[in-house]
Amino acid sequence: MKQLLLSLLIFSSFAPTYSQTDEDIEQIAKIYEQMLTNSSCHDWLRYLCKNIGGRLGGSPQYAAAVRYTSEVFKDMGVDRVWTQPVEVPYWERGEVEKARIVNSRQVGTHELAVAALGFSGGTGPMGVTGEVIEVQSLDELEKMSVGKVRGKIVFFNRPMDATRINTFHAYGRAGDQRTSGPRKAAKMGALATITRSLTLKYDDVPHSGVTIFGDQKPIPAVGIGLKSADFLSALLKKESKVRVNITLSCAHMGKRISHNVIGEIKGSKYPNEIIVVGGHLDSWDIGEGAHDDGAGVVQAMEVLNQMIKMELKPQRTIRCVLFANEENGMYGATVYADKAKEKGEKHIAALESDAGGHTPRGFTMDAQKDLLKPSYATAQEWRSVLAPYGLYYLQTGGSAADISKLKSHGAVLFGFRPDSQRYFDFHHARTDVFENVHKRELVLGAASMGALVYLIDKYGFENSKKD
Ligand SMILES: [Zn+2]
Repeated sequence: MKQLLLSLLIFSSFAPTYSQTDEDIEQIAKIYEQMLTNSSCHDWLRYLCKNIGGRLGGSPQYAAAVRYTSEVFKDMGVDRVWTQPVEVPYWERGEVEKARIVNSRQVGTHELAVAALGFSGGTGPMGVTGEVIEVQSLDELEKMSVGKVRGKIVFFNRPMDATRINTFHAYGRAGDQRTSGPRKAAKMGALATITRSLTLKYDDVPHSGVTIFGDQKPIPAVGIGLKSADFLSALLKKESKVRVNITLSCAHMGKRISHNVIGEIKGSKYPNEIIVVGGHLDSWDIGEGAHDDGAGVVQAMEVLNQMIKMELKPQRTIRCVLFANEENGMYGATVYADKAKEKGEKHIAALESDAGGHTPRGFTMDAQKDLLKPSYATAQEWRSVLAPYGLYYLQTGGSAADISKLKSHGAVLFGFRPDSQRYFDFHHARTDVFENVHKRELVLGAASMGALVYLIDKYGFENSKKD
């Protein structure tokens, strides 16, 4: 009896409510069928990764990606394609990035696997050499005397918390070592920094990613592979005054112009209500920007592509935005939001895919306080039509970086959430390549986004017009 009650309860929580019509079930099935048999996003991703490669904001590769995606939008037959210029700071990695333990009593000279963090300072050809001090946190560093830090290489070695099931939470809690650690160390007179890579995969692949110096003069700052990090840490326990040489040819190159790329299908009934679906077109320069965020870009483009192919005429305007320069400062997101405000555009919702091309799990939701509760209630009613596709996860809190600026415009924000277990294996590393994106998982992601956009367009929220 208890079991029967329990199964009734489970069943009733997924039972259709008034707004989940047979039409929705049918339409979403068609979207999945189309995507799974007739999608182009995997081919587009191959081109972005293999013909263009890593697309750092301001780079020639980024400009090539703008041209390519603009052409794809035109070919698919959207109503309008345009670009928005975005001024971005440009940084080049250069040819040389290496680090080695020098003159250790125990190991002599030993190479360490490193990658310069984005916006790191460079070194001369001989590099910089200094004694390494290891810390687990920024707090630990700040408690040290300046005299102890000056002229040293600060080694931030706190691992990501393996007990967090959602790896993005573990990333968030370890991220300050990369984003702010080098600035804090520079302020205390450190010579350079080494940051344990933000990954849970135990290998020796160093991960890059932005570090923010602000007004502080940049110092050399590298990410280190986990095996190299553990090797260095073990040596520091056995031997005092371990010295490391770091040589980097990276340099700040001033400002460049990049572009947001936008493709749009005009709404048939409420053309002034805009639903954004997007990802960021830039990526780190090591690797090919496959999961981060080539996958999100091509999934968002596929949503529009299939609407056209299926002759679905959206009521509201569906706009695919490929944001410039997310990785080093979200400049494209700022320009897009500012322009929207300037023109008085009404964004009712935005959905971004920027968490990798893995198996879809669901969505996070965010909005201004008074809007979030009723919008979440509306989205709850869609659960039963989304659940058969593995989309069980629907939680408030967070969305994605580029669309976050549209929250104050009154939009309801959605972050696409694929399974998070393998994302940080590849994130900002040379392993973020096309071969590591699974075609079926990528396409299922595009279909999930297509299904959600269909529902948002059909039902809208408190901020949109209804029949
Ligand atoms: Zn990203």
